[in-house]
Amino acid sequence: MEGPESLLVYNGSVISVKRFSDTSMRISYSGLEAYRNCPLKYRFQYVENLKEPKSREQVFGTIIHSVLRYIHTPASVQPTLDQALNQFSQLWNGDAYENETEERAAFSQGVKIISDYYAKNDPGEATIVDLESRFALEIGDDSTGRHVVAGIVDRIDATPSGFEIIDYKTARKMPSQEKVDNDLQLSIYLRAFLDRYPKETEHLDRITVSLYYLRHGVKLSSTRTREQLADLDRQFLAAIGDIEAAKFDPILSPLCEWCGYRRYCPFWKHKYLEEHSVDDDGAQKAIEEILTLRDRMKGDKLRYAQLSETLLSYMEGKEVERVFGSTGIVGKSVRRTWKYDEDRLREVLVPLDKWDAVRKVDGTALRGILPVLPLSARKEVEAAKVPDKESVSLTIKKARDIEALDESVVS
Ligand code: SF4
Repeated sequence: MEGPESLLVYNGSVISVKRFSDTSMRISYSGLEAYRNCPLKYRFQYVENLKEPKSREQVFGTIIHSVLRYIHTPASVQPTLDQALNQFSQLWNGDAYENETEERAAFSQGVKIISDYYAKNDPGEATIVDLESRFALEIGDDSTGRHVVAGIVDRIDATPSGFEIIDYKTARKMPSQEKVDNDLQLSIYLRAFLDRYPKETEHLDRITVSLYYLRHGVKLSSTRTREQLADLDRQFLAAIGDIEAAKFDPILSPLCEWCGYRRYCPFWKHKYLEEHSVDDDGAQKAIEEILTLRDRMKGDKLRYAQLSETLLSYMEGKEVERVFGSTGIVGKSVRRTWKYDEDRLREVLVPLDKWDAVRKVDGTALRGILPVLPLSARKEVEAAKVPDKESVSLTIKKARDIEALDESVVS
């Protein structure tokens, strides 16, 4: 439920903020994104408040964002390229780099990004509506619980046809257009924009949302439909529901490479133990042997597949189901799994009053309806969850596979 507006002093200026009532959780967009990437990382960062050292990439990104704010802050004359580069060198912070070579490469990259930006854009031509604007958006309703998602939009421009919402990226890798078309960050920024300018909801096709990949000098743009914006709540409410249910399972992914919590994470912390190795002879030998065995099994599996093919085609040629060699017999065996036609089964079992007894709870379907259930029902459904089957197996990587990750560990 939205409350009245109040005034707040932020960074020396007075801003108007909406007050929200009955909200269960206030979360930043970056927190939600962190949760969706790895719930355990979210727990370290936002629940346990463990400090994560800023990575080089984060420090670099913050400096570039500040320079772009400087370039576009409305003024009678926009800064020249030289002035922007001068601003960059004043803001430069080389502390995060391990040596001079790395620092020099990063500094040159920054100079290139800003120079390319000027080559492709005339800052004086942009009609800036807002820069780094803060938002606090209420999502959900009485039935789902009301929550506030907060964040900062890098830039909003007025364009000849409408508006453009821009988020700057300093990442090396660019996403596919499909990912941009479904990017949640851009969707929430658009929702925040519409919260401020509700009349624009009628003209969604005139509002462009863009990710500007500065290292590549490429802007990937998209628009959003009403359906996409409506679906946003469902996705965020699902994540918030999981946070409230304290679901903090780790997700191992390439993003671990940049995670500053590896020394606390069960997937990585063994690597950071003081002795940095297995302190038990038996376990150390088991690691060596399991790696050798894994390689041998890979080779054996391949050979087994080749031999099977030879024998199956021999059997087919002879039109037999088994072949007898001097050392043994090899036969063809076909394994089938079966499923029942649900409609026909229902016809048989409903009259016998046995249909309910064989119907199974479908976990996937249940997860689909969970976000739209009332909060109390969601909590009851969660409480009804019990462990089913669990199997434990090993994942095996050779040392050389993880060496690359070692180098990027934030210490
Ligand atoms: S290292 Fe990976 S799995 Fe562990 S908390 Fe960080 S992101 Fe999650």
